[in-house]
Amino acid sequence: ATERLIMSEKLAAVGEITAGVAHEINNPIAVIQGNLEVARTLLGDETDKVKTEFRLIDDQVYRIGSIVSKLLQFARPSEYSGAANVISPAEVVQDCLVLTRHQTEAAEIETATDFASGRSVLMARTELQQVVVNLILNAVHAMPEGGRLTLQVRDAEDGTGGVAIVVEDTGVGMPPDTLKRIFDPFFTTKQAQGTGLGLSISQTLVSRAGGRITAASTPGKGSRFTIFLPQSENA
Ligand code: ADP
Repeated sequence: ATERLIMSEKLAAVGEITAGVAHEINNPIAVIQGNLEVARTLLGDETDKVKTEFRLIDDQVYRIGSIVSKLLQFARPSEYSGAANVISPAEVVQDCLVLTRHQTEAAEIETATDFASGRSVLMARTELQQVVVNLILNAVHAMPEGGRLTLQVRDAEDGTGGVAIVVEDTGVGMPPDTLKRIFDPFFTTKQAQGTGLGLSISQTLVSRAGGRITAASTPGKGSRFTIFLPQSENA
């Protein structure tokens, strides 16, 4: 218990520093993006080589921006929370599929959906969307050679009237010692490509809506993430 306390104090301190630094990085990023646009306009007709360079710079600046916003959201979740609404999980999941179509198609991933529940839940739409997109992109990363992504929305079987959203992949899977740590902030196996914040933020968002996320995995076979959300009172 003491260890946990020390850990949470450490995380709070890291959070404060992180938020400060992330905030400071935001301004220069905006300046770089602005100057890139200006430079492009000044150059007029870009050659292919210049275009490629610009695209590479753009991509990386975008990546820095998204890391910074994840850090801010992790460090100060309450400042970034949206208002909860009565929403249809099936609708949100469908939107997420559209948003990630580029990635799933590029990776030759076959998608299957099964929306068997018509229940509503109470959560900020953008936050549920963020959680599901994050799970889908993790699934895509786990299937570099293609595979099958299954998305389900069904009535929770625990009799509470809630909803279960399942995101399942046929990817690389995880050994038990990885699985144990995936919700820890900054835990990643993706080295420079990952922040290790996706699942940690997802868990915070879902638990604030009164729900939880569970994960099951078999190495070499795939993984299954389930988001349980409680019944919305005015549904
Ligand atoms: P990141 O994706 O930046 O690493 P996350 O918090 O989203 O951060 O995920 C943490 C880790 O959990 C990943 O680095 C990966 O090892 C593991 N993981 C998450 N989703 C999956 C998945 N669908 N299949 C295999 N491993 C996964």
